[in-house]
Amino acid sequence: MIESLELFEAKPPLQLLAMKLEELEAFVQELGQPKFRAKQIFTWLHQKRVTSVDEMSNLPQAFRELLKSKAAVTTMKEVTRQVSVDGTIKWLWELHDGATIETVLMRHDYGNSVCVSSQVGCRMGCTFCASTLGGLVRHLSAGEIVEQLLNVQRFLDEEEGRVSSVVMMGSGEPLENYDAAMKFVDLINDPNGLGIGARHITISTVGLVPAIRRLADEKRQITLAISLHATRDEIRSAMMPINRAFSIDQLLDACKYYFKQTGRRLSFEYALVGGQNDKLEHARELAGLLGHLDCHVNLIPVNYVPERGYTRTPKEQIRAFVAELQRLGVNATVRREKGHDIAAACGQLRAEQGRN
Ligand code: SAH
Repeated sequence: MIESLELFEAKPPLQLLAMKLEELEAFVQELGQPKFRAKQIFTWLHQKRVTSVDEMSNLPQAFRELLKSKAAVTTMKEVTRQVSVDGTIKWLWELHDGATIETVLMRHDYGNSVCVSSQVGCRMGCTFCASTLGGLVRHLSAGEIVEQLLNVQRFLDEEEGRVSSVVMMGSGEPLENYDAAMKFVDLINDPNGLGIGARHITISTVGLVPAIRRLADEKRQITLAISLHATRDEIRSAMMPINRAFSIDQLLDACKYYFKQTGRRLSFEYALVGGQNDKLEHARELAGLLGHLDCHVNLIPVNYVPERGYTRTPKEQIRAFVAELQRLGVNATVRREKGHDIAAACGQLRAEQGRN
């Protein structure tokens, strides 16, 4: 169902942010420097969060010049920034090849959470989602995903705030860009860098079953969020083409395996789409599917995307839906909406601007 596709790849600059400490060590040694320079550079990048090699004041001048000629610290620039009345901020960045991506900062009582994109566009084709409207342009590199986060952390540095959790729920399917997604996790985990623990990182997926199993075998402590959105194959296949490749049964088997391997409670996202999947009978079916799993269900009132034209479920009906799930023993909450006034749903800002 997903045909192979030639990804557009402009030659990217060699990005220092894409290198793990051991890779930086090999890199500085190739440039004729002692290994310890790598740690110095890593600290400058991830902890002091400089934006240029010139600021790395403990590196010899000649080496700084050499480094500048070989690699880049930053590869994206801000195009626009939208600030919501609730403090949510959404950035649109332009990448080295002119492609654009979005990153969102959400402020919760428990801390600052950042939503990063993993691809430019998306080819999963979910019918309610703006990110997929123009298809997939290309994967992001691990460095480009890290750079989104560092940009937001730099913004927070000014108010002495810090990113406390990260969600890979921006544009793109992170498990389709598996290696970059895992490298991103390793890079932000590093105690010499941002030191964000795996338990504070969530990866959201449409449900690429083989990748979920692969991730399970890695036994990382990250939270896996599954975009379920429907309880029957015919409804889910109509909303999410990926369901034609992996049925709900196959997906839930992979979820059980993830729990078995990692012991991590799963998270399920369920976007309530008016008239499609939001009746009480769907709540009961959902409870039937998930009742025996250690999981949490996040109900998301569908965000209106003009190109999609869905209607939202009335508040009263949402309350009844949650109440029914809870009555049946399912741990469910309605996601508090952030940035409703600023086109903060996936891909909306990029689509609005008509950018690629
Ligand atoms: N590809 C991944 C991550 C990106 S989308 C995935 O599908 O999980 C992040 C979440 O937002 C997913 O649950 C997605 O289904 C949901 N989403 C996308 N568009 C939406 C919309 N218009 N309203 C509500 N949720 C939406």
